[in-house]
Amino acid sequence: SYEQILATRKNHLTPNLVSHFKKPLVIHAGHMQWLYDHEGRRYLDMFGGIVTVSVGHCHPKVNQALTDQISRLWHTTNIYMHPKIHEYAERLTAKFPGNLKAVCFVNSGSEANDMAMLMARLHTGNQDILTFRNAYHGMSPYTMGLTAHSTWRYPLPGINNGIVHVMNPDPYQGIWGGAACRDSPVQTTHSCNCTPGSCEAGNAYYNELEQTFKYSLPRGKVAAMFAESIQGVGGTVQYPKGYLKRAADLVRANGGLFVADEVQTGFGRTGDHFWGFEGHDYTPDIVTMAKGIGNGFPLAAVVTTPEIAATLGLALHFNTYGGNPMASAVGISVLDIIEEEQLQRNSLEVGTYFLKCLEELQKRYELIGDVRGKGLMIGVELVNDRETRAPLAAPHMLDIWETCKDLGVLFGRGGLHGNVLRIKPPMCINRADAKFAVDVLGCAIANTLA
Ligand code: PMP
Repeated sequence: SYEQILATRKNHLTPNLVSHFKKPLVIHAGHMQWLYDHEGRRYLDMFGGIVTVSVGHCHPKVNQALTDQISRLWHTTNIYMHPKIHEYAERLTAKFPGNLKAVCFVNSGSEANDMAMLMARLHTGNQDILTFRNAYHGMSPYTMGLTAHSTWRYPLPGINNGIVHVMNPDPYQGIWGGAACRDSPVQTTHSCNCTPGSCEAGNAYYNELEQTFKYSLPRGKVAAMFAESIQGVGGTVQYPKGYLKRAADLVRANGGLFVADEVQTGFGRTGDHFWGFEGHDYTPDIVTMAKGIGNGFPLAAVVTTPEIAATLGLALHFNTYGGNPMASAVGISVLDIIEEEQLQRNSLEVGTYFLKCLEELQKRYELIGDVRGKGLMIGVELVNDRETRAPLAAPHMLDIWETCKDLGVLFGRGGLHGNVLRIKPPMCINRADAKFAVDVLGCAIANTLA
């Protein structure tokens, strides 16, 4: 029964698993953009298991690829060669520009970022790593240091060793907010028309980054800087145009590598490009990816140049499951489906329509402070006051979020104060789904204000 499921969770699973719903949801099945609860009620999934279900729940072609592989070979050690990992390595690296041609497969985003930190430190001989405040890069003891958001950090000594958190160039909540421009297919309330590099707020943030090199880094040297192309967990924060490219140049000029964390923004999600970094007009030295890469299967990867990858030859580096035959078969089928079903184009098309509908809703409700994003990576920031941009108080926020659930639409939630609705559905959704989700959000807001 429902009560038994809740009791088992409480008694036998660790307490880090929290549900903020007053009436927690029990999910029994999924198909494409739909999820079904224990009583068979259907929900439109706007969160995709945290941006992970990229092509659709139980997509028949992924199911088929996995079933075929399961009946042939589940696992063998990487000491032997299995053809699937080679086929997949060729397919995946073909998606990258420049010399990003070497891939190491792992099982989660945290592992991928762990490995990127290791590679950067070994390759450059430097120790310090820069990340943005409000970033999320993982929860392993190594990557927890990168994750610059107090909610996500245990009080452990030493997690900040060799890590410097820099000012987040956040055009909406940042201290130089208000006018910074962001790269978006539709003009949103707080965007402007600056060309890359000419944005006043963007320049202020860049100058602040320069100060970090001057004051915080020994000899001004750095091993790497990590950046999400759009901050995900942090609340769909888009950076000023041109900022990341300039940051990458600065990092390289000071002996470091630039790491793009594409765990949320990769695989066509932003619509305009296959990788989020391409929207910022630079090529990173290392790219980490997880989530959407496997449509829910535990699969992740680090892609870099052969020169940087050579660092992994300095020790016997081993990962039991990384790139196993099942994961490789799933990864290949995800790439096939994104191409065959033109999901990147769909992301752009439906995402742009979605943003426009949300902007219409924003005109009706003062508490929608900001609508932002690209493709199917969208954030809706709810505020108490449009002028001060003070976050909407938690009880109202939770009420709206749960009412949407009760009306059949599952949104995500994020941002430092949990006041940003996150919309990152499977990329197979259509315009009618977008319209339905926005209508439901409108009803939930009206209900809360009533
Ligand atoms: N990087 C980003 C941008 C993420 O959003 C996440 C997960 N939320 C991670 C890394 C860590 O991935 P995982 O949970 O698979 O370890």
